[in-house]
This record gives sequence, C-alpha cells and structure tokens, in this order.
Amino acid sequence: MTSFSDLGLSPKVLSAVTEAGYSEPTPIQAGAIPHALTRRDVCGIAQTGTGKTASFVLPMLTLLERGRARARMPRTLILEPTRELAAQVAENFEKYGKNHKLNVALLIGGVSFDEQDRKIERGADVLIATPGRLLDHTERGKLLMTGVEIFVIDEADRMLDMGFIPDIERIAKLIPFTRQTLFFSATMPPEIQKLADRFLQNPARVEVAPPSSTAATVEQKLVASKAKDYEKRETLRSIIDQQDDLKNAIIFCNRKKSVADLLRSLQRHEYACGALHGDMDQHSRTTILQNFRDGKLPLLVASDVAARGLDIPDVSHVFNYDVPIHAEDYVHRIGRTGRAGRKGKAFTIATAKDSKFVDAIEKLIDRKIDWVDGPPSSHAAEEASEKPAPRARRGARKQDTSSESKSEPKAAPQQDNRAAKPANAPNGKAAGGKPANDDRKRSRRRDRDDDPTPVGFGDDIPAFMLIGAKS
Ligand code: ADP
Ligand code: MG
Repeated sequence: MTSFSDLGLSPKVLSAVTEAGYSEPTPIQAGAIPHALTRRDVCGIAQTGTGKTASFVLPMLTLLERGRARARMPRTLILEPTRELAAQVAENFEKYGKNHKLNVALLIGGVSFDEQDRKIERGADVLIATPGRLLDHTERGKLLMTGVEIFVIDEADRMLDMGFIPDIERIAKLIPFTRQTLFFSATMPPEIQKLADRFLQNPARVEVAPPSSTAATVEQKLVASKAKDYEKRETLRSIIDQQDDLKNAIIFCNRKKSVADLLRSLQRHEYACGALHGDMDQHSRTTILQNFRDGKLPLLVASDVAARGLDIPDVSHVFNYDVPIHAEDYVHRIGRTGRAGRKGKAFTIATAKDSKFVDAIEKLIDRKIDWVDGPPSSHAAEEASEKPAPRARRGARKQDTSSESKSEPKAAPQQDNRAAKPANAPNGKAAGGKPANDDRKRSRRRDRDDDPTPVGFGDDIPAFMLIGAKS
C-alpha cells in the first residue's frame, strides 16, 4: 500500500495532509502525484469524490516552494467551470497550504474586480479562475500570463466542450508553451480526449477506473413517472417522503425555469429548500450554497451549475427531477453524493419519453440501473397515442402549463428572480436578491463566465426550434 510519504511531496505538504486526517492517498493521488512532481503533463481520470483536487494541489504546493511570485505575473493557473467550484479549490489551497505563505487569487465573475486586482498586483503564486473573468483581467492589461509554469484544467471535458472552448484556446495561447499542463475529470468522451491531447505534451495518463464510471458508493435507482410537470412533482415528493435516511439532497433540473418552478412548488408544500442556478446573482448563490453546506437548508434545487465538482460531504441523496440530456452530466450529478467513501443514494425520475436518455446513460456507465417500481412502460402507449412524436416538445409544454394552473396557482413571471429565496433563510431575512443586473449589462460572453450557453439543447432553445415539424 502506497503511503503519502512515498510520493515525493515536501515535508510541509505532508504535515498538512496528516492534519487533514488522511491516512493514505487515494488511487488517483498515488498515480498522478509522482508524475506531476517530475513536471510531466498529466491526464487524470477517476470517479467523482475520489480526491482529484489534492492530486494537483499537493504537487503544486511542493513545486511552488522554490521561487516566488512577481507582481502581475502569476506562477500557476487553475481553471474551473463554475464560481463555486473555483472558490472550493481556493479553500483546498488554504487547507493543504497552511504551512506555506502563498498568495492565492480567486478570479471569478459576479463579484467586484478591486480585491482581485489587488491580489494580482501583489504577485499571485496561484490563480484560480473561471475563464470569462480571467480573460476580463488579461484584457484590462493588468495580468500577464507569461510567467505561468503550471496550468491546471479541472473538469477538463466540461472545459473543452463547445461552450467554453473558445475561451480556453485564448487562455492557452497566453501561457508559455513550456508550461506543465494537468487535466482532471471523472468523464472524458473520446471526441473531447482528442481535443484535450492538443493541449498536452506526452502526458502521463492515469486512469483509475474506466472514464465515466460512477462512484461505487452511490446506490442508483430509476423512478417511473407520468410526464406532466405536476405529476413529476408528485412523484418527486413521494420519493423524498419515502427516504428515512435523508439528511440533505440536491435536486437537479435540466432548465433554470424548471428550477424556479420546482422551488416554488416545493416551498408551497412546505419543504425547506433553496435554489441554485446560473442566472442568480453571486451573493444569493454563495449564501444559498453556504446554508446548504451548513445544514440549514436540507434541499437544494439546482441546475447543472451545481453538478460539477462540489464537495459537500454530507449530501445523502441526489434526485434527478429531469433525466439529464447529456449522459456525462448524470455521472457528475449523482457524484455529489457518495463522496470520499461515504454512502449515497441517487434517484432519477424518468417518463416514457426519457427512455432514449436513460439508454444513453446506461450505455455510458456500462451498467443497468434498477427501477423502483418498474419502468414507465404502461404509460408509454397512452402518451404516445396522445401526442404525435414530432410535436411532443411544444405540445407537451403547453399542456403541462395548463394542467399545472389547475392544480397549483402559477406564480407571476416577475417572481422568477426570487427563486433564490429559501424557505428558512437565516434570521428570517430573504437571502434571495435581485438578478445579476451588472452581469447582464456586460457582454454576452462574460455573462457565461461559468455557465456558457449549452450548444444544442439548453435553456436557450431558439423559438424556431420549438415549432412543431410539418410533415
Ligand atoms: P473529486 O475532485 O475527485 O471529485 P475531491 O477532490 O473534491 O474529489 O475530494 C473529495 C473528498 O475526499 C474531499 O472532501 C477530500 O477532503 C477527501 N479526500 C481527498 N483525499 C483524501 C484522502 N487521501 N483520504 C481521505 N479523504 C480524502
Ligand atoms: Mg473535483
């Protein structure tokens, strides 16, 4: 059995690891750290919650012990897909770097530039950034990337997909060719791997399990539901109520609009919950996530902005209110539970119409997922005869809306922005706030700093795509 002291890490790092209470390295740590310490490029693939962060943070800390930062010229750069994840990695630097005097600058959107400018000016050893905000800083001319020795892309497949890739290519061009590049992810579709290889030079490939394997500690189940929104919400409430061991849960929806609708519905049914999605202002996002972490808010309704990387140890359950359209997202969503060897449960609500997405997930993770009470086959025939397939999208939505207004009052659209208000906000004060107006006034690309418009099916489906096909 490998121990941390066999990996070549410095004494300062080893002592921080001991204080963190880790007895031995995880397989990805044991595999990746020695390569990273020789300054070799690494492409590391391992399941969610198995310690990929320390796989790059610990060797970085060791390597950074030599040399020091110069004003406006950071020595290392870590890119993350969301602001929350970037902030979490910054916390990891504090934890593992407690014996070091390193300047860490967190460059994320939705907050003011002033403090970030000061940190850069002082000379940052480590920059942890979302791509949009990083480019904002370089364009303002106060940040030079020519001193970057180590370039880390976490959640690498997400960062190289179509929403982010133009920004990543621009950033990579600003960094010297001689840098060391480290990629980490739990999923790596073959077509993205090819793209990734363009950024890596002779990388050590460390694959702990086949890419896209789900964490072994997560018990997965499918739950059949009828397709209408109010029926899906009923299914969700009943599955939540059946869980005796539910401590707290993240409930994922495919669309920001569904996040807001589901939040209101759950609150009306007196579930204590909050919401997290990319259109909320950063203050609300931070507050809600903190309340969830602290256990003040047991249920978090979220878009995929919360799917990647978030490490909240106590999440006992993940519910997919919608089956994710991209199979990789399934692996990441359910990976918010069952972390660091703990147990977790993941339930995915699926209607007859979702069968092709369920198939894609099962193919990706290379296993079948059990149904709680059998598949939704009995409803399938019914629904298929009700709605001709090509019009299903549009037709289904319209129908859903009207039936919903019968069962539950529909909130006025301007209330959408209050989606962030938790049922039990601390001190009785609403944590929710105004929409991120200052973000919106800025260029479109900057708005996407951690939530790029998905290409294909996203929240922003152009109107013409919703028009039923004429046949
Ligand atoms: P990943 O990026 O692979 O999803 P993280 O880096 O977020 O996983 O780590 C998941 C959890 O595992 C964190 O809470 C971290 O503190 C813990 N952890 C990391 N390395 C070890 C280790 N060697 N032993 C025990 N716990 C660890
Ligand atoms: Mg991670």
